[in-house]
Amino acid sequence: MTTTKPVRVRFAPSPTGKLHIGGARTAIYNWAFARATGGTFVLRIEDTDPERSTEENTQIILRALRWMGLDWDEGPEVGGPCGPYFQTQRTATYEAALQKLIDAGAAYPCFCTKEELAERRAAAEAEGKTWKYDKHCLHLSKEEIEANLAAGKPFVIRQNIPNEGTTTFHDELYGDITVENAEMHDMILIKSDGYPTYNFANVVDDHTMNITHVVRGNEYLSSAPKYQRLYDAFGWESPVYIHLPLICLLYTSDA
Ligand code: GLU
Ligand code: ZN
Repeated sequence: MTTTKPVRVRFAPSPTGKLHIGGARTAIYNWAFARATGGTFVLRIEDTDPERSTEENTQIILRALRWMGLDWDEGPEVGGPCGPYFQTQRTATYEAALQKLIDAGAAYPCFCTKEELAERRAAAEAEGKTWKYDKHCLHLSKEEIEANLAAGKPFVIRQNIPNEGTTTFHDELYGDITVENAEMHDMILIKSDGYPTYNFANVVDDHTMNITHVVRGNEYLSSAPKYQRLYDAFGWESPVYIHLPLICLLYTSDA
């Protein structure tokens, strides 16, 4: 798929560590693509993992990008029309998106505890089946859901992914990738702490920030069909995806 819209690309680091060489390469590709096309280079900080994200790492990433000469047109410190550019400040955007999915019957609360899940998983495996979430909570009645909520039971929000059919995702380098829906879990969109999962926030932000091309490392390729399912559930057009092969560094002890 190609797009005729003005190019908007983003670099979306998680401040759970310093900027590594793979991240730097991804940033350079996105920046160069934006600069070569007269497009916009957006910087978004994906800090939805509160335990591992630090302000210090964010500052180190911003400094490293500046040191490399990679200026961003929208993002931390410069602002822009699609802000805020920190995921922890975008809760209202995620809530609105989630409501859309719930209204469409594409997402539902799951109250299963870790122990209950472990038990059912062990039972499935004892029968030689591979476990995937069994949609137990999809079948709760409205009254049961309300009673659980009133009792303050912790819950996550899952996406309702059909068991039938296939999902096809297109990458500009890898071509079409098709997976059986039966192999996909009803993935968690919102965690029990109320924070969105990486998958959910990433898709909602790429859409709400009008990103046209996603250029990133291919460690995300295997999750890409899940993103496609989210785009389909929202009825959104997905950006053009370009997954880059990972950088391999070889060390020899006698060099
Ligand atoms: N936050 C992800 C990372 O730091 C970015 C993934 C993406 O570019 O979609 O690896
Ligand atoms: Zn459940």
